[in-house]
Amino acid sequence: MNHFPRSHILNREYTFVGKIGSQKTYNQLFLKIGVLLLSAFFIFLSWGVTHHQLEKNKTALLLGLEREQQNLCSLFAENLYQILEEKQTLALLVFNQLDTNTDTISADISQFLHNKSAFNRIVLYKEKGEPLYQSSPDHRNPYDQGRLRQRIGQTISSGEPLFLNQMDKGNKNSWQIPLLFPLEAENGGKMVMLLELDIGYLLNLLRDIDIGKTGKIAIYDDKNFHIASFESGGLVSNNAPEIPSNCLWLKESKGMAVFENSNGRMCQAAFFKIRDYPLMVLVSQEAEDYLTDFNFYRMQLFRLLGILTVFCLAGTYLLLKAIDKTHVYLEELTWSNKKNEELIRRLELEHQASTRAASMDALTGLHNRRLFVLLAEKKLSAAKRNILSYAVLFIDLDRFKTINDTLGHRVGDLILKEVAKRLVANTRESDIVSRFGGDEFVVMLSEMSQECNIKVIVEKIITAVSRPYFDIEGQQIHTSPSVGIAVYPRDGNNLEKLLINADAAMYKSKKAGRGEYRFFEASLNTVSLQKFELEQRMPEAIRDDEFICHYQPKIRLSDFRVIGLEALIRWTHPGQQIIYPNDFIDIAEKSGFIGPLGQWTLGHVCRQIGKWQSACITPVPVAINVSPLELQNPKYASLFIKTLKRFETSSEFIEIEIKENAFIEDKAVVIENLKVLSDNGVKISLDDFGKGFATLDNVRSLPINYLKIDRSFIKDICDNSSDNSIVYSTIILAQKLKKEIIAEGVETDYQLRYLKLAGCDHAQGYYFSRPVPEKEILEFLTTPIRNIAS
Ligand code: C2E
Ligand code: CA
Ligand code: CA
Repeated sequence: MNHFPRSHILNREYTFVGKIGSQKTYNQLFLKIGVLLLSAFFIFLSWGVTHHQLEKNKTALLLGLEREQQNLCSLFAENLYQILEEKQTLALLVFNQLDTNTDTISADISQFLHNKSAFNRIVLYKEKGEPLYQSSPDHRNPYDQGRLRQRIGQTISSGEPLFLNQMDKGNKNSWQIPLLFPLEAENGGKMVMLLELDIGYLLNLLRDIDIGKTGKIAIYDDKNFHIASFESGGLVSNNAPEIPSNCLWLKESKGMAVFENSNGRMCQAAFFKIRDYPLMVLVSQEAEDYLTDFNFYRMQLFRLLGILTVFCLAGTYLLLKAIDKTHVYLEELTWSNKKNEELIRRLELEHQASTRAASMDALTGLHNRRLFVLLAEKKLSAAKRNILSYAVLFIDLDRFKTINDTLGHRVGDLILKEVAKRLVANTRESDIVSRFGGDEFVVMLSEMSQECNIKVIVEKIITAVSRPYFDIEGQQIHTSPSVGIAVYPRDGNNLEKLLINADAAMYKSKKAGRGEYRFFEASLNTVSLQKFELEQRMPEAIRDDEFICHYQPKIRLSDFRVIGLEALIRWTHPGQQIIYPNDFIDIAEKSGFIGPLGQWTLGHVCRQIGKWQSACITPVPVAINVSPLELQNPKYASLFIKTLKRFETSSEFIEIEIKENAFIEDKAVVIENLKVLSDNGVKISLDDFGKGFATLDNVRSLPINYLKIDRSFIKDICDNSSDNSIVYSTIILAQKLKKEIIAEGVETDYQLRYLKLAGCDHAQGYYFSRPVPEKEILEFLTTPIRNIAS
């Protein structure tokens, strides 16, 4: 019997959790790889972009430098050229006055030289090198006369200006550039003019130009001899040539050059040759010097990037740690889930075992009454869908009391066991054989093709059970069964009726003598006559207000406070004692009066709550019992809500109690009604829980707030009872499902203590109060805390 299919579901859940676990591990791995890649990408990107940008800036800067150098270079060269061109004027001056007084020449030329600070001195030489005229004497550092003459010869023959280099100059001031120009007089005589150019004066003009710490403006001759240069500190001369000779005096007249200077550093330079003169101007600067600010800025940027990278790496590390941690948490969660599920599974097994134990007759191993009812009801619900025959046999052993009394209980028990065996041997597997207690056995014959087969089986049973019991302690004992038979659906369309009628038939067969069987006849049952009368009166009873409600309190076990009432209907039939619901609810259900009766109860309870409220008594929620037939009406919930509105009763004060059999027919409509009620704030209890088919698993999905453990389980609470573990495991499982548990039928102090210890939430029963009329229940509302020792 698959009474608790939940364990199966749990297995699936567990595997599912496991799968989630491994899935998560993969996800985490991917996540970690993703984080690593992302941070690596970010670092590379930031360094790469920065580097690229810096290189671009550097190139732009160097280009700027190049432009600057070229401009300066051409400007300076142009200046120098202009100055050198003054020699024409000077030559003219000299030629014009050559024949006149040398003093006059001297005065004019001095005047000229005075105006042009770029020239220091001028000397005219004849063709053979004899000096003709000089603007000022040259006593301090005279030229080497031999070399000078040679040079004069050279310039005359080439007709080109000639620069006297260091060797020619001897000790001459290095700022002076002596240049020889060939001149031709009008009479055809050749002459040479030596012009001493004060380059220091020229370069000094540049002193306000910022050419950088390593910046240089230098002048070279056509042999790459360094003549003079200007640096940020001032003028310098006689330096070793700045530029390697192979780099210079290039073919181009102007351009850019990159070279390594004497300090081993890379320099960038612009050069410009002065046309018609053997001179070249060079503007250079060490690239690193020019890039000082840029390098500083780059350093700062790299430092910042370094810090950013460190942060990024630290962040990545922390992120990976955090991912690891979530993995740990997940594992812990999975582990605790696993433990939890294992606990539930164990409880389920225990629950199943105890349920099985509670469903078995310990002596004979047959089903007991509870399991018989459960299985037989299942069969009957199947019977509604087929045309097969079903019968309930009520079997009672004749003379059993006498056997028990004379031969003792041991023999009695052995006989009962043997009877059980014979019953099982003579029925089919599909039949249900049970012992209800004492010598009462009940058998359900199921799925028979013809009713006449019942008779055959019953006769077989009577023959088998009537056979003497030889083996019992060497004695031959005789007993026989009296069998009453009720056939479904003729003798009752539910199990309860079938049992009552089979019982009645059994009494008739007992009266007929031993080993007899009787089928049920309607006239046997006097109760049905009474019921007929009640059914007839019911409409008038509702009209005449013959129904009343009694209320029974529900007590919260944590503080013994009254947390609710259950309204139980009674019929005050004129001229009769109070009739209890068990005697008329099924009549109302059968005759279709259950709807109006339910409406009456709801209205009555709403009115009662209103009365309490107007008397300033704070009401507690009152639960009404609702029949499955009422819930099968699709309009039930809306009618219910309308009634609450009509009586202005808040849904917090009304609860309903439904039984497990409410879910047998029209389940969809029933559940829809319950959902609407629940959505409107009406709380729902599942009554008589454990008695019927409902398992905790299908309770899980229903909108149910409370489970009321059936009275029969509470009744059996005592030491060493298997019912104890049913109660206990039901409580635990209900807690897992987040449903509150109410124990009904609590009658003793022992039961109460047991339930409180087991963790039951609420209790209801004669121990606290029987169901009492409205006046008496007032005491519970005004003094809601019961003074009970816990
Ligand atoms: P129920 O819903 O299980 O109600 C509890 C029954 O147990 C009540 O019987 C109550 O008197 C009884 N009870 C309470 N505490 C104890 C206890 O400690 N020991 C014992 N032995 N019994 C206890 P009652 O009032 O005879 O009602 C019987 C059934 O009739 C109810 O069972 C309920 O299903 C049904 N019923 C009562 N009122 C209505 C109603 O208004 N509408 C419908 N449809 N059914 C109702
Ligand atoms: Ca109830
Ligand atoms: Ca109940």
